[in-house]
Amino acid sequence: MQSEQPSRTDVLVIGGGPAGLYAAFYAGWRGLSVRVLEARVEPGGQLMALYPDKIVYDAPGSPQIRAAGLVAALLAQLEPLEADLRMGEVARTLGPDGEGGWIVGTDKSQYEAGAVILAAGLGALLPRDVRIAGVETHPDIRTDLPDPAGLAGRQVLVVGGVPQATRAALELVEAGAAVTLTHRRAGFRGDPGMLARLEAERSAGRLRVLAPAVLSHLTPDGAELTVNGEVAHVQADTVLVLNGYLPDLSPLLGWPLEWEGEYVPDGPGGQTVLPGVYVVGDLARSGGDFKLLSLAFGQAALAANHAAHHVRPELKVRPGHSSERGGYPRPASQI
Ligand SMILES: Cc1cc2nc3c(=O)[nH]c(=O)nc-3n(C[C@H](O)[C@H](O)[C@H](O)COP(=O)(O)OP(=O)(O)OC[C@H]3O[C@@H](n4cnc5c(N)ncnc54)[C@H](O)[C@@H]3O)c2cc1C
Repeated sequence: MQSEQPSRTDVLVIGGGPAGLYAAFYAGWRGLSVRVLEARVEPGGQLMALYPDKIVYDAPGSPQIRAAGLVAALLAQLEPLEADLRMGEVARTLGPDGEGGWIVGTDKSQYEAGAVILAAGLGALLPRDVRIAGVETHPDIRTDLPDPAGLAGRQVLVVGGVPQATRAALELVEAGAAVTLTHRRAGFRGDPGMLARLEAERSAGRLRVLAPAVLSHLTPDGAELTVNGEVAHVQADTVLVLNGYLPDLSPLLGWPLEWEGEYVPDGPGGQTVLPGVYVVGDLARSGGDFKLLSLAFGQAALAANHAAHHVRPELKVRPGHSSERGGYPRPASQI
């Protein structure tokens, strides 16, 4: 449950991509309280927004892991540490808190922390704008699906061929919505299991698929589509348009961080020009165009351990070996 006035945490991570999740893990592993702010409705960064269905071959120690599976593993590793994950919040402001820490402002709240780890990647991954004629006439157009159960019993038109569209259609069917899935191409993206389920639901008549189809315009009660040369009207209480995500760095560009293009310069341990503010992953200048998960994980570990020493000087920067600890530390909330 999200409280009105969130408590101060030792570390605030901005960005719930792989670098942010791993930094959150390491900070929690050091016994610090951690909060993660993520612009999207789900964690995972580029892996979940841009290629959840693709197989990654060069993630450390995980041969041939699907991007969505790698994110699930990162979340499972983080879970015992009880980090506070706040989805659907874009960090927009950063200022000193007067006590050596920082206050980060979002559209919804303000968060205080002893240290901030910027893991914002290419920027906030926000849904593409809906550019369909008649969009202003329909009363319920959405670009994300945080809660499929909220659409139970409704007629929903899902538009798009990305993995999120396939997944949304399946989740909505499961939640009890009457779903039509449409895309301008014949094929849909998703992992093999998801595509098999899509076919099974379609064959069983529980999900209507119209593809390839041209969506000419939206109407107050649905949409006009052309399928196989014939015009069809699809009734829809809700239209969910999932056309992918575009990165937006603009919420952060005003922050006093000495930007170099789309990068934030970093010193040892990911330190930026602001004391107690670190940068990791694709956003860090030191990685340059070398945008790789393996690098992001290393940077995240370094920054989190430097942050640990920054907020609690009694903690050494070096964490020691996890294999010698014999188990997870107690979450900061239980200390
Ligand atoms: C198609 C594709 C395939 C790839 N394949 C591989 C591969 O096989 N191997 C490999 O090593 N790398 C691969 N990469 C690169 C890899 O995905 C990136 O290096 C990695 O995602 C970087 O992680 P990150 O956490 O720094 O950034 P991101 O993954 O970009 O995550 C940053 C997160 O921060 C959030 N955010 C940004 N700004 C804000 C804000 N102001 N407030 C709140 N949240 C914010 C974003 O919404 C995003 O979720 C691939 C990339 C792409 C696009």
